[in-house]
Amino acid sequence: MDSAVADFELECGLSQDISNIVLDPLRPYGFFYFAPGRWRLIYRINKEESRSEATSPEFIHRLLKEKLPDAEVKRLLWASAFRLGQGQSDHYRKGRWLLAGDAAHAMGPSAGAGMMVGVLGAWRLAWRLARWLCRIIPIPINFLKIISENKERERMKSKTTMR
Ligand SMILES: Cc1cc2nc3c(=O)[nH]c(=O)nc-3n(C[C@H](O)[C@H](O)[C@H](O)COP(=O)(O)OP(=O)(O)OC[C@H]3O[C@@H](n4cnc5c(N)ncnc54)[C@H](O)[C@@H]3O)c2cc1C
Repeated sequence: MDSAVADFELECGLSQDISNIVLDPLRPYGFFYFAPGRWRLIYRINKEESRSEATSPEFIHRLLKEKLPDAEVKRLLWASAFRLGQGQSDHYRKGRWLLAGDAAHAMGPSAGAGMMVGVLGAWRLAWRLARWLCRIIPIPINFLKIISENKERERMKSKTTMR
C-alpha cells in the first residue's frame, strides 16, 4: 500500500503540540507541525489512484480543502509517494563494507526519526574512524569487526531507549 507526504506553508487552527491523526477507513491521514508556518500532510494513496495522480498539486489542494477547509494555504513545498516498510539487516558489516542508515535499519515514518538514527550511526562510525586515523586509540586487531559490533550494540540500546 502506497502513501504520500506533502509539506505546506499554511496557517491553520490545529494544535502544534500533537500529531493530528485521523483513522478514516476511506483514507487515513495526519497533519504534523514541523516548523513555524509549516505543516506536513501524510495520507494513504487508495488502490484506484496512481502515485503521480495522488501527488499532483490539484489532488493535494483538493484533499487539503476537504480535510482542513479553514486553512490558509500559502504554498505547497513538495510532495512524494512512498511505501511504508521497516526492517533491519542481520549484520551491519560484510568484509570491508559497512551498512548505515536505512540500508541497515529502515523504520516506518511514524516515529519521525529514521534519518536521525542514520545520522547518529554515521556519527558514531565517524568518530571511531577519526580516532583510529589519528592513532588516539591503539589499532585493534580487527578494527572493522569491533566498530560494527559496537555500532550494533549502540543501535540496540537506542532502540530500547526509543520505545
Ligand atoms: C514519509 C516519510 C517521512 C519521514 N520523516 C522523517 C522525519 O521526520 N525525521 C527523520 O529523521 N526521518 C524521517 N524519515 C526517514 C528518512 O527519510 C530516512 O531514514 C532517510 O532518508 C534514510 O537515509 P539514507 O541515506 O540511509 O537512505 P536513502 O535516503 O534511501 O538514500 C539512499 C540513496 O541511495 C540511492 N540508491 C539506491 N540504490 C542505488 C544503487 N544501486 N546505486 C546508486 N544509488 C542507489 C537511492 O536512490 C537513494 O538516493 C521519513 C521517511 C518517510 C518515507
